[in-house]
Amino acid sequence: MSPIARCLICRTLICWIDCPYGGWWRHDQHPDDGHDALPIPTSDTPLGRVTARVDALLSAETDHERASYLYTVLLSLAAVEFELTDGAVLAPRTTD
Ligand SMILES: [Zn+2]
Repeated sequence: MSPIARCLICRTLICWIDCPYGGWWRHDQHPDDGHDALPIPTSDTPLGRVTARVDALLSAETDHERASYLYTVLLSLAAVEFELTDGAVLAPRTTD
């Protein structure tokens, strides 16, 4: 099964396309604005777990104002996670 995640920009499902030269994330449905798929960086680190938690809260939030606030928090957490891991979370971790 190929790894799946959700895109940080549009929050729809994206999946990992593996290839010998690296691989890339692809949207299930190509977005109207053509942005690149960027996975929400959830990992086993405390920061990654908080990011996953905020993402879950955002999914459940129905109030528009609270949702947009949560999205701002999610973007900030993701930015820190990307910075700390030097983009490593952009690709699914391999076990070999
Ligand atoms: Zn997207």
